Amino acid sequence: MKKFILLNLLILTTSFCFAAEYKTVLLISIDALHPDAVSKVNSPNIMSLADKGAYSPLATSTNPPKTLIAHTAILTGLKPSENGKTDNVWQTGEPTVSKPTLLSTAKNKGYQTFLIYSKQKLGYLKNSATDTEIFAKDEAVEKTAEVLDTSKKQFIFLHISGLDTEGPISGWMSAEYIDEFRFIDEQLGILFKKALNSPSSLIIITSDHAGHDRTHGSDHPEDFKRPLAVYSSLKKIKQIPESALQIDGLKKFIEEEF
Ligand SMILES: [Zn+2]
Repeated sequence: MKKFILLNLLILTTSFCFAAEYKTVLLISIDALHPDAVSKVNSPNIMSLADKGAYSPLATSTNPPKTLIAHTAILTGLKPSENGKTDNVWQTGEPTVSKPTLLSTAKNKGYQTFLIYSKQKLGYLKNSATDTEIFAKDEAVEKTAEVLDTSKKQFIFLHISGLDTEGPISGWMSAEYIDEFRFIDEQLGILFKKALNSPSSLIIITSDHAGHDRTHGSDHPEDFKRPLAVYSSLKKIKQIPESALQIDGLKKFIEEEF
């Protein structure tokens, strides 16, 4: 028993020592981003952060790999069967997420919390720990730059749409798809510049799923792929652990960081 208590104390002390106090935490999901598109040429701003932090193209989605199911797993840290969101639909006025989310964790840690998204159904992810909810179809990144205040302790979840419409129209990895991604990265460059003025920042960039040809959400292996980049201004993140590459494991990884 004594040994057990000592071990617990040791674990508590260790995790306390490693947890850093960030002023700014940004969790960004670029909808439908295939890891093959992420490169220094296509996304210099994301790769610049990834170079100073850690990056993996080997993160995976939920089954099925669909927008709301995947984002619910990201924010709750639970598999669809555990968090209850097994379908991909939600309408305004319907019940929202019932399990605690990363915004709940952030709120408990004294952060102002923001849920900023560009697809109406992500309104499902709003809960009592959400201080500010912004639905911005085409201007989610600009709105985020507007509300970002690096003098305050803020946790911002930002969902960016664009590739999820370009993929089905022009095809995943098509010239048009890549153009759209380059545009998103350019916009993010402006946001990152502001975020990096923060005394301390943790920035996570990922996606919900990829796609292939002109389709996604199927059982095709390409559809399950996701990239994951993590940057911390306080320390060098050497490696992204295997568990964080699983979509429902990302929450725990982020919670251990801030
Ligand atoms: Zn999606």
